[in-house]
Amino acid sequence: MEQKENGSLYHIAIAVNNLKDAEKLYQDVIGLKITHREEIPEQGVRATMLQPAGKTGTAIELLEAIDDSSPIAKFIEKKGEGIHHICFYVDNIEKTLKELKIKGIKLLDEKPRLGAYNSKVAFIHPKAMNGVLVELAELSEKTD
Ligand code: ZN
Repeated sequence: MEQKENGSLYHIAIAVNNLKDAEKLYQDVIGLKITHREEIPEQGVRATMLQPAGKTGTAIELLEAIDDSSPIAKFIEKKGEGIHHICFYVDNIEKTLKELKIKGIKLLDEKPRLGAYNSKVAFIHPKAMNGVLVELAELSEKTD
């Protein structure tokens, strides 16, 4: 993976009812290519990453609920399918979270958890970010 600058946009995540249908749509309509599929039981989701051919540029992350207790199932029940969160790269997520806490920014995760690609991720509360659920991600060195 190319070197990403702190604060650049990593992906936009979309909550979907049916992952297979959504994958097909983003491939057929936008021409994106699937770069990664992963099931993350701790977060109750199946995720597919798509990117423009060449694997550069901002990714789209499609999220499907594993079961009814999944946060994605609850999101869709309340709001319907749609944009779920946006994710920014950070160089050092522990340091960033500490700084945000000192600034009084409301966090959903005060400590990073494991995300896709062995990344470390944490979410900021949407109330702190103009109603947008924001994810921060520090990618491990060995991803490509
Ligand atoms: Zn995400």
